Amino acid sequence: MATLSEARRILDRLVAFPTVSRDTNLPLVDWVEDYLKGHGVTARRVWNEERTKANLWCSVGPDVAGGVILSGHSDVVPVEGQSWTTDPWTVTEKDGRLYGRGTCDMKGFVALALAAVPLALKAGVRRPLQIALSIDEELGCVGCVPMVAEMAARAPRAAAVIVGEPSRMRAVTGHKGGLMFRTEVTGFPVHSSLMHTGVNAIMEAAKLIDWANAQNAANRAAVPSPLAAVFDPPWTTVHVGQIRGGTAHNITAEHCTFGLDFRVVPGEAAEDWARAYQAKVAEVEAGMKAVRPETGVTLTRVFDVPPLVPEAGGAAEALARAITGDNGSHVVSYGTEAGHFQKAGYSTVVCGPGDIAQAHQADEYIEVAEFEAGWRFMQAVVAGLAA
Ligand SMILES: [Zn+2]
Repeated sequence: MATLSEARRILDRLVAFPTVSRDTNLPLVDWVEDYLKGHGVTARRVWNEERTKANLWCSVGPDVAGGVILSGHSDVVPVEGQSWTTDPWTVTEKDGRLYGRGTCDMKGFVALALAAVPLALKAGVRRPLQIALSIDEELGCVGCVPMVAEMAARAPRAAAVIVGEPSRMRAVTGHKGGLMFRTEVTGFPVHSSLMHTGVNAIMEAAKLIDWANAQNAANRAAVPSPLAAVFDPPWTTVHVGQIRGGTAHNITAEHCTFGLDFRVVPGEAAEDWARAYQAKVAEVEAGMKAVRPETGVTLTRVFDVPPLVPEAGGAAEALARAITGDNGSHVVSYGTEAGHFQKAGYSTVVCGPGDIAQAHQADEYIEVAEFEAGWRFMQAVVAGLAA
């Protein structure tokens, strides 16, 4: 019989794999695959392009529609530069908390989902319990995309997807979309006293960044749509958090690179924002090329996370609410893989143990009480599938 202490033992194993997004997750995947095989469950890998990492999914129970997908990511954020008082790669229990990298975000949920597999088998579920374990979530939810596509094409169609990001077991029904561009501005270096004969990449970049300022001001001043009104802030934001460029104060900068990202409220299309930015880039670039044709601006999409749009009467939301008893209305500002599942046609909700405030922190932890609440949630999901 699957128990909470088994979930806890699985968590110990998962945390011991240092699956930072930049590194391989294959040792973890091997372990999970073996664990599933031990229960007679065959999982499928969906590799990244370089075959250094793999998503993993499985379906437990009969090959029929109407099941539930439990979705979690295998990767974690780095620990460098953080001062931990415990070993980040060992689960340490103290004061009612389980410390360790990923305990909260989100190996806790993954451990509970895996422990639910023998529970589902024992209960003789009539609709399948499915698990989707992804890669590269912390790099902008980019890794799960081919797995979601494969599940949509090959797995028995699930009625609901639960993305177990930490929400303190509340049903989160909406989040903003995210879209990020790396913007590389190539100017033409001359002595600053002759700046009119060169192109200063930093000063051209400043025009694009000031465009972001103007969008933020306009969005803030506009009346939010009903879909947007529940968010904080209730408008699409355009943000530049990092910039690099220039070599000396008296040389017009040849290079300037910055990241610009949109957090798009549901109801607005990320592609419209992308087109607006591309149009501004084209305008700035035309001015640069008029001075030096060899200059220019290159845009690279870093991530594109679809929003989670609150569903009217959604099956996933109804399931999460029935189990947790939570009838509040919750939306969050961070992106998750939920948007990708919803975009693929699944009814999707975010609901998982732990608090997002502890995610990515030094001494990350999940409260034991939250982990236990997560286990009760799994028991209820399985009971529902067996009914
Ligand atoms: Zn996460």
